[in-house]
Amino acid sequence: MKCFTTLAVAALLIAPTAARAQGKLNVMTTTEDLASIAREIGGDRVTADAIAKGYQDPHFVEAKPSFILKLQKADVLVAVGRELEIGWLPPLIQQSRNSKIQPGATGYLDASLGATILEIPTGNITRAMGDVHPLGNPHYWMDPENGKRIGKQIADKLSEVRPADRAFFAQQLASFTSRLDAAEKRWLATMAPYKGMKVVTYHRSFPNFAQRFGLDIVGYVEPRPGIPPTPQHTLDLINEMKRQNVKIVLVEPYFDLKTPNAIGRDTGAQVLVMPPSVGGVKEITDYFKLFDYDIARLVDAIRKSGAK
Ligand SMILES: [Zn+2]
Repeated sequence: MKCFTTLAVAALLIAPTAARAQGKLNVMTTTEDLASIAREIGGDRVTADAIAKGYQDPHFVEAKPSFILKLQKADVLVAVGRELEIGWLPPLIQQSRNSKIQPGATGYLDASLGATILEIPTGNITRAMGDVHPLGNPHYWMDPENGKRIGKQIADKLSEVRPADRAFFAQQLASFTSRLDAAEKRWLATMAPYKGMKVVTYHRSFPNFAQRFGLDIVGYVEPRPGIPPTPQHTLDLINEMKRQNVKIVLVEPYFDLKTPNAIGRDTGAQVLVMPPSVGGVKEITDYFKLFDYDIARLVDAIRKSGAK
């Protein structure tokens, strides 16, 4: 009995040291948007690093051996989900042989599960004709309301993996949410004069953004998500843009500008390269700056287009 008590006291004494000795949680994310939110929630208790760069097409990332090494050391892996990463993430996870971050394990988080997902197909779910959005639109982080939902899920996941820091993560989440609320009010006010503005986008990266900030997307340069433009589709799009007087074309940084520029010349529309991710250009260093940058550039392009 005496021995047990001594051990218990000893355990109590060393417990805080042991917790600290665990060090920072190593969080890997698939995209820089998720890494930015993970840093907001994890603060100084985590390190967060992304696999894909923000200037890369997140559907098509070249799997490098260095990614496997990073995943080997991860305590938590946060993915966008909805098959955004299906072309490159599963073999990396498998080859990491890290049991903590396999899908279904405690250290794995699919952030789409707690987010509002648009464009969920009805009927047969297939990747037929190369459509890379078979489970709904995976670009859901482009709505700050979903940013809050991602933050909540990351806080829950970090607390599950590191219960001793639960109160800290809750506090970080509260701070992130309230700062995002304030920023969102500002962004909504900036966009309010342009409600209903008609735009065309290259890929379907912006439906959540458009819904939140009042844009009306009337067409896409890609005939289907993941399928390059065809002459007939481009012609149809130009005619539709002329019919509806569309003066803005949004292009993600990783697409060729040849077709968008041709569309711009023919319709008199402004072609704006608009990054859908943190790291898309060097100025966008975190999740807040993503909206700051995109909204400022968008308003500038709308004014230049003469549409408003
Ligand atoms: Zn996509």
